Amino acid sequence: MDLGIKGKRALVCASSKGLGRGSAEALAEAGVDLVMNARGVEVLEAAAADIRAKFGVKVAAVAGDITTEAGRAAVLAQGPFDILVTNAGGPPPGMWSDWSRDDFIKALDANMLTPIALMQAVLPGMMAKGWGRVVNITSFSVKAPIAVLGLSNTARAGLTGFVAGTSRQVAGKGVIINNLLPGIHATDRSIALDAAVVKARGISLQEVIAERAASIPVGRYGTAAEFGATCAFLCSQHAGFMVGQNIVLDGGAINATM
Ligand code: NAP
Repeated sequence: MDLGIKGKRALVCASSKGLGRGSAEALAEAGVDLVMNARGVEVLEAAAADIRAKFGVKVAAVAGDITTEAGRAAVLAQGPFDILVTNAGGPPPGMWSDWSRDDFIKALDANMLTPIALMQAVLPGMMAKGWGRVVNITSFSVKAPIAVLGLSNTARAGLTGFVAGTSRQVAGKGVIINNLLPGIHATDRSIALDAAVVKARGISLQEVIAERAASIPVGRYGTAAEFGATCAFLCSQHAGFMVGQNIVLDGGAINATM
């Protein structure tokens, strides 16, 4: 399918690995020029070079922490953008009774206030042009809480509330905002979470992965490529009537009728 976005420019945050990288690749395959971002410069430059070579699109790599004002200013200086994909690392797991105010502020900064600040920066330009797409990478924990990821549940619920209202305020100007909610995908993040279970339960990593995969109706973890393809669709011309939705990609893990 032609996504109809060849020649557009996208900012894909936190995109040297995992779901951000999958999204960057799928957009590049659709002919979109990219600004990619991550903190680690070497992996980021290598990912950018790989995507340039594979898809022949323009790719700028801007290293920096997207959860800081300086990091955001550096990527936004590369604008204007037709497409924004917000993403950042997720908060660490823990216990509800242990989190301090500072822990909550850090999580809110990374997974709520950062995507909001990025949207506030790019939406006026998109609205003036009459076209824009925003996809926020959140988590299936927005729909079905993961107790040990309470910091994530909390911050992402706040972002979801912001998007619910704002997406309806900008849709009339051709700007479409949706959230994409990953379930368990095979990335460094899921390996880190699995490693915490290995430590807590004293079983092997293979056992943890097999147990978690068995809890997913498709019987496996998702891939970054599958995730990226869905993200690119949400950024496409064809997604113009889909507003403020929370699209779950979890292999059927959330056992709910709707
Ligand atoms: P990942 O494989 O660990 O990749 C994270 C990417 O983000 C890397 O490129 C990393 O590069 C970059 N990054 C992290 N923090 C950053 C920051 N502050 N500023 C700029 N770049 C940053 O993670 P993932 O699995 O793709 O997860 C992406 C998001 O989806 C996370 O918020 C995660 O919580 C959420 N999620 C993932 C899953 C899953 O199963 N994978 C499920 C639910 C939700 P640097 O480290 O070099 O910065």
